[in-house]
Amino acid sequence: MMRILIVGGGIAGFAVAKALELKGYQPELVERRPDQASGDSGLFLPGNAGRALDQLGLLKRVAEVAAFIPTQRILDHLGRPLSVTRTPDVWADCGPCLSLPRVTVHGILRQALQRTHLHFGVAVEGIQVLPKGSEVSFSDGSTSTYDIVIGADGIASTVRGLLFPTAKPQYVGNVSWRFITRNTSAIDSWTAMLGKGKTLLAIPVSAQDVYVYGDMALAEKDVPKMNAQTSLTVLFRDFTGPVVPLIANKPEDTYVHFGKIEHVVMDEWVKGRVVLIGDAAHASSPSMAQNAGMAFEDALVLADAIACASHPDAALATYAARRRNRIDWVQKQCVARDKMRTLPGPVRNVILKVLGNKLYARSYAPLAAPV
Ligand SMILES: Cc1cc2nc3c(=O)[nH]c(=O)nc-3n(C[C@H](O)[C@H](O)[C@H](O)COP(=O)(O)OP(=O)(O)OC[C@H]3O[C@@H](n4cnc5c(N)ncnc54)[C@H](O)[C@@H]3O)c2cc1C
Repeated sequence: MMRILIVGGGIAGFAVAKALELKGYQPELVERRPDQASGDSGLFLPGNAGRALDQLGLLKRVAEVAAFIPTQRILDHLGRPLSVTRTPDVWADCGPCLSLPRVTVHGILRQALQRTHLHFGVAVEGIQVLPKGSEVSFSDGSTSTYDIVIGADGIASTVRGLLFPTAKPQYVGNVSWRFITRNTSAIDSWTAMLGKGKTLLAIPVSAQDVYVYGDMALAEKDVPKMNAQTSLTVLFRDFTGPVVPLIANKPEDTYVHFGKIEHVVMDEWVKGRVVLIGDAAHASSPSMAQNAGMAFEDALVLADAIACASHPDAALATYAARRRNRIDWVQKQCVARDKMRTLPGPVRNVILKVLGNKLYARSYAPLAAPV
């Protein structure tokens, strides 16, 4: 049996473990955290992520607890409508658009694993690429050799740092705040409000709760002036409309995730028999809400490539070739969308009013096509 190590027990790591199990493998997975991921925010899953969950055999379980997202509507900062897209118009033949807390998805993936050997509280510290595999050293002092190593260790990837030292996350020019709170504004679908260099977004994640996301353009040198405690009421004081009461009414003790938005763009994801997937390989800005979807698709394609190839080298080459166009497309669309948000408000608003639905279909239709 091929020896496969997965580094990282995030969404990408658990998804590839599940996909490999479905192909009959028993991978090993190391996660440096001693237990499950904590700290909550929401996860919006467009239809291609729904389809991938179905292929992992998990769509039913996820759909039971998730909110279905029937429309994506964009308003200006005063709550005036700019565009509304019915999600089935693009995704009907692909999969449902769903939204739920990130830790819930993570927990469902974790519970679905039956044959993966899981090691929590153990980190990968070193990797030596050998002609026919890799020797990996761990934080508990042990070493072991593997036929294939999968680096699913997130945007600050150790595996990438060891094998691709020049590939680093780059700041895309925005910082974001994310939290989950009671849905006191009766938000019933994906609702974004666009202001000058600022965005507010709310998405239901269950019958009672809503995920709120706010971002603003900020020079990198000014990032340290902001943090999770920054008053969003003050920051978004020029906004009026449905999302605003959610930031005003959130309880004091609500967990708020604050961070710089960074992306990772790489020409190669494979070195010897080591491959990067998920955010380690191609973290993108959240503008397309595709990071989780791309991680699920990576998982399915990689497991399929490993199962079908006669040889690990051929499997990893096939994987990289099959993923390249979709990942490039998502990353280019993210950059284009981030740029559009910096256009003067009146210009951007006219574009969205006239072309909103067409732009949505144009960016997502290639992802609704089979992987
Ligand atoms: C607050 C927030 C909100 C988000 N919202 C959305 C959304 O709405 N839609 C969407 O598509 N995406 C969203 N994303 C992104 C999405 O969650 C990720 O892209 C997706 O989970 C894939 O991540 P990953 O598994 O590649 O990396 P991660 O989730 O970062 O997991 C990497 C794991 O590797 C572990 N690790 C790191 N180094 C080592 C090591 N050396 N040894 C062992 N283990 C290690 C880490 O502890 C971690 O558990 C969001 C992300 C964040 C942070």
